[in-house]
Amino acid sequence: MTIPFDNSYARLPDRFYVAQPPVPVAAPAIIAVNEGLAQALGIDPAMLTADILAGNEVPKGASPLAAAYAGHQFGGFVPQLGDGRAVLLGEVDGPSGRFDIQLKGAGRTPFSRGGDGRAAVGPVIREYIVSEAMHALGIPTTRALAAVTTGEVVHRETDLPGAVLTRVASSHIRVGTFQYFYARQDQEGLQALTDHVIARHYPDADGPVTLLSAIIERQATLIAQWMAVGFIHGVMNTDNMAISGDTIDFGPCAFMEGYHPDTVFSSIDRNGRYSWINQPKIAHWNLSQLATCLVPLAGGKVDELQTTLNRFPDLFDAAFVTAFSRKLGLIETQDDDSEMIGALLRILADAGVDFTLFFRHLTAFLGGSDHVQTLVDTSVFTDWMDRWVERTSGETKARLALMRAANPIFIPRNHRVEEAIVAANSGNYAPFQKLNAVLARPFDEQPENAAYETPATKDEEVHVTFCGT
Ligand code: AMP
Ligand code: MG
Repeated sequence: MTIPFDNSYARLPDRFYVAQPPVPVAAPAIIAVNEGLAQALGIDPAMLTADILAGNEVPKGASPLAAAYAGHQFGGFVPQLGDGRAVLLGEVDGPSGRFDIQLKGAGRTPFSRGGDGRAAVGPVIREYIVSEAMHALGIPTTRALAAVTTGEVVHRETDLPGAVLTRVASSHIRVGTFQYFYARQDQEGLQALTDHVIARHYPDADGPVTLLSAIIERQATLIAQWMAVGFIHGVMNTDNMAISGDTIDFGPCAFMEGYHPDTVFSSIDRNGRYSWINQPKIAHWNLSQLATCLVPLAGGKVDELQTTLNRFPDLFDAAFVTAFSRKLGLIETQDDDSEMIGALLRILADAGVDFTLFFRHLTAFLGGSDHVQTLVDTSVFTDWMDRWVERTSGETKARLALMRAANPIFIPRNHRVEEAIVAANSGNYAPFQKLNAVLARPFDEQPENAAYETPATKDEEVHVTFCGT
């Protein structure tokens, strides 16, 4: 038995990466292996031993490497970032396509700068829970194949147990990967990267303009999908934006509870740059950096790159209206849909009502429950409800189906994620396992798990999240 590796990134020119095996750890022990995902990748779960998942043993066929990339962090350009605490083992080309298998927390690499190349169990648990939850919500994302502890301590604000996450991604190529070659005026590198990205992710693109067009379409949809479940990424730096259109790099991310468009959780986001409402603007800004990188390849088509980039706000607005129309059970589109959605969001912001619960109960309203009216108790909401009831008359079954598939009952609530992390810090993974099981079926009624539906009490509320790397 072997893992069926086929490592296309390792076949790119030498300057794309540094060959780098993971650094072995003291005492690997498995926290979790995602067997369903292993099977979907064509990997026999029996291959996923603690030694392989911790990097103590490099599986046959792997060509471990740390990838080079650059990026804008909070608006400031850093010409070299790269995999400082992650090693790409290789790619598998299995039943559901080609995927990277990466060990995150695998030790120092030439890109580690001052860092230790390690991850604490908390951020590993958080990324595992939230990325798998995103997948279950139907949102494109990297995934978690496994988590192991290392038997070593990592030093952060306090000493914490070390861990390694096995991350699966359709690729780890970022906007910052393009910026790395652009910053070096390496046109050949840019061309090789572009060819690789087209072959791997966008086979219908025939050059930089059509590639940019396809990338911005995926990002517009992705950001709208995030916002429709109240997700706040937290560090939308250009190195944390995947070219594939998947959500990547779950650092200080969080799901909003009480709705307010300016919500921010990340401790390092002091100016609200990456707040819920700013995400499309930041995505557009990041994509303009990508467009800049494509200029040297565009020949006489630079104007077309600009025109393509300028489509982003309209693409996003359309995706946002589509996503929220589903949440509201609007089967047929009307001119005032966008206005109606906006009016509701203003009401929800004034009420500070729990975003997820509101839409859950709005869904239940069509099924005959009037609980939603106790969540928001204002006359302007009553007027809005009258308008919505009129707008959604008829075809109740189809509307209910649409709303049930768009309005999750279960999201990774911050206090639950926190609870799983605190327990994991002392070696108890039961809350982590339980939360994963609940979040695997976010749209299903699970009366036995009703406690996972509700927002934090005042005592449990999480106001700030940390990168914790
Ligand atoms: P992030 O903020 O997680 O997107 O990471 C930004 C950069 O810092 C990337 O180049 C990471 O590889 C690097 N980095 C983050 N944490 C560590 C660490 N503990 N050791 C080494 N490099 C790190
Ligand atoms: Mg990152």
